[in-house]
Amino acid sequence: MYHSVGDRSDDPYRITVTPDRLDAQLGWLRRRGLRGVPVGELLAARARGGGGDLVGLTFDDGYADFVEHALPCLRRHGCGATLFVLPGRLGGVNSWDPLGPRKPLLTADGIRRAAAEGVEIGSHGLTHVDLTTADDTTLTAETAESRALLSELAGAPVTGFCYPYGTVDARAADAVRAAGYTYACAIDPGPLTGPYALPRVHVGQNDTPVRLLLKTRLHRLRRRAAAGV
Ligand SMILES: [Zn+2]
Repeated sequence: MYHSVGDRSDDPYRITVTPDRLDAQLGWLRRRGLRGVPVGELLAARARGGGGDLVGLTFDDGYADFVEHALPCLRRHGCGATLFVLPGRLGGVNSWDPLGPRKPLLTADGIRRAAAEGVEIGSHGLTHVDLTTADDTTLTAETAESRALLSELAGAPVTGFCYPYGTVDARAADAVRAAGYTYACAIDPGPLTGPYALPRVHVGQNDTPVRLLLKTRLHRLRRRAAAGV
């Protein structure tokens, strides 16, 4: 789980990695015989009983720096990714974060450019609200309306959703399923873990090869614990 790729001189939420660090992390994957792909592609491969050499890469919020910094790096390493964007904030900024710098978000053109390069476009809701505290009208708009808008923008049905803040409950997962998505990403969904609450691991600037290796192992242990085996 990545967010922004670029300058990290002011980064209170630790959501930014530098292009050099992303390059090193993707190189690390490659040296281990692994390749980053969109989540939709990973799930399809797993459903066929394969995909052991694939890692789903996600970029949340749709920062404008994705096209400038992440895309060239992904291309260099032959990787794909899923970009979770906010169709209610096209060309806007991350004003949901009370602290930290205002970071520009992709415009419709920027999202189309990423899609044209094979990036899977997924929905992060309309405007970045916590779905577990949203009323019914908001919940429907954030899931169904965002899917309709993005499918039109990307020119293909959008199948992936990502819960803002990673917060999910059964009601939010039901709304996502009802809106027609086939999967949804969370962060650490515990007992809700499944296709509509996929766990992810935060990858940040401090994640050097040693830390990435530890995180991979820790993640496997935690998943096993969540599955009760
Ligand atoms: Zn977000």
